[in-house]
Amino acid sequence: MIIKNVRILGGDLVDIRVADGEIAEIGPGLEGPETVDGGGAIALPGLVDLHTHLREPGREDAETVQTGTQSAARGGYTAVHAMANTSPVADTAGVVEQVWRLGREFAHCDVHPVGAVTVGLEGKHLAELGAMADSAARVRVFSDDGKCVDDAVLMRRALEYVKAFDGVIAQHAQEPRLTAGAQMNEGVVSGRLGLTGWPAVAEEAIIARDCLLAAHVGSRLHICHVSTAGSVEIIRWAKSKGWNVTCEVTPHHLLLTDDLVEESPVGAYNPIYKVNPPLRTRADVEALRAALADGTIDIVATDHAPHPVEDKETEWSAAAMGMVGLETALSVVQEAMVETGLLDWAGVAQRMSVVPARIGRLGGQGQPLEVGAPANITLYDPSARTEVDPSAFASKSRNTPYEGMTLPGRVVATFLRGRATVLEGKLV
Ligand SMILES: [Zn+2]
Repeated sequence: MIIKNVRILGGDLVDIRVADGEIAEIGPGLEGPETVDGGGAIALPGLVDLHTHLREPGREDAETVQTGTQSAARGGYTAVHAMANTSPVADTAGVVEQVWRLGREFAHCDVHPVGAVTVGLEGKHLAELGAMADSAARVRVFSDDGKCVDDAVLMRRALEYVKAFDGVIAQHAQEPRLTAGAQMNEGVVSGRLGLTGWPAVAEEAIIARDCLLAAHVGSRLHICHVSTAGSVEIIRWAKSKGWNVTCEVTPHHLLLTDDLVEESPVGAYNPIYKVNPPLRTRADVEALRAALADGTIDIVATDHAPHPVEDKETEWSAAAMGMVGLETALSVVQEAMVETGLLDWAGVAQRMSVVPARIGRLGGQGQPLEVGAPANITLYDPSARTEVDPSAFASKSRNTPYEGMTLPGRVVATFLRGRATVLEGKLV
């Protein structure tokens, strides 16, 4: 098959010949019996998400492995890491293998289960990290995401344990006592609205502690969804020491701010903006963008968190936290980072494909688009303008903060090892 008229990382127009799931030839004027016209779209290595909630097993009313991976493919992703906070929790070899097998069965994108750090996400006893690493799912990323591993001794043991198989602990940094009952960012807006605040220090204190612990035991640490300017400063300091610390930012923390809770196109107190960690201030957004541009923040991860309507369309205090994100991630990153001149397409490819695959130790993903590489390819038209219509999502859930907004860009096609999962913006 020939994919014609594409611009790799925004470069000159070329054609790509795909054979046996790999890129066989790149050049102008390639011909063959089967062609797909890229129409001048940008070709990126297939996107890799380090932080997706697929909800299966247990909350199939919100998302399934099938619908979540369809949503991923439509967003240009060829691999996702499925978070462990399912029901039952993915804290054994059996559960991670179940999720991994479902991913193989539907094959819209690769599914790499994340293993829980502690049994039942309860923060009391280490889960079977070694058994999950040795399982068919070959787990390398471990996280209690949704909850923080707040016990310093357990966190130290987990960091020590995963060294044996080159694993990484992905921490949801939230000091629980400082955030009891928290509803939104602690600041001027929460004060005016009288909502319990989620202070920046609750994130920053855990990040500082865990950077020190990771350095102490010489292990790999990844920080999930960094959301404050102070967190960026701590991670910049840890990296300057040469410590093995990586981190991610979500698309929504690059674009949205906490004053939307008070005043927005969809009214005040709209739980569509309720997310954990919460939307922060404009100064935080600016710091996160600068840090993603300069490499202090390594990657963009969606924290795609589907919830059924009844869990979101309720009063603020009772609503679930989280937003779907797979199908809008690239557009939001274009808006926040490319249109602002902070990143070019090569920079986007690094942060949404190459580096997340490296952190997750995925050999067959995140490879540069070169001859011999797996044909995991995303075609993206940055000149398109799309009004976000949640009813068109492949995701089973609709809880997007971008409904009705016009965002730049459109995923035209996604190829997983040479096989189209999306063509002309539609699932194959
Ligand atoms: Zn989290």
